Amino acid sequence: MKNLVDVHFPNARNISALLKSNDKCCRIQNMKCPKCNSTQTRKNGRRRGQQCFQCRICGRQFVESPKSQPYSPQIKELCLKMYLNGMG
Ligand SMILES: [Zn+2]
Repeated sequence: MKNLVDVHFPNARNISALLKSNDKCCRIQNMKCPKCNSTQTRKNGRRRGQQCFQCRICGRQFVESPKSQPYSPQIKELCLKMYLNGMG
């Protein structure tokens, strides 16, 4: 079985670089309001492990869409587990 980290993060030399790049990615990316399409949103706590956001323009509250994320938390977690098991 091919290494998941290699498959999904060919440029990641180690897990800390991987996590760092993901954090950076999350910071740059502003969530878009599904109602008014504004990117003037702010974080609004967490629900069931999902990051919640609130639009500054219209006040709409929403959770992040998994599809908009470059990599799912499941894959990230799996990579982390494999790394910790000495497989990554
Ligand atoms: Zn809005």
